[in-house]
Amino acid sequence: MEKCIICEQPKKIGIHLYTSFICTDCEREMVKTDTDDPKYKFYIEQMKVIKETKIVT
Ligand SMILES: [Zn+2]
Repeated sequence: MEKCIICEQPKKIGIHLYTSFICTDCEREMVKTDTDDPKYKFYIEQMKVIKETKIVT
């Protein structure tokens, strides 16, 4: 089980982006979320964490 960086829940299935993990549920949500949706902004913010992590490592 790995902790998803979006929902912060331990999940079994998902994808790896650099050193971070995104669960399948969140990945699907992100794909269908409209860019005008406030939720999309939240996803982008969470994704920034990945980038920052990548720079550090
Ligand atoms: Zn998730």
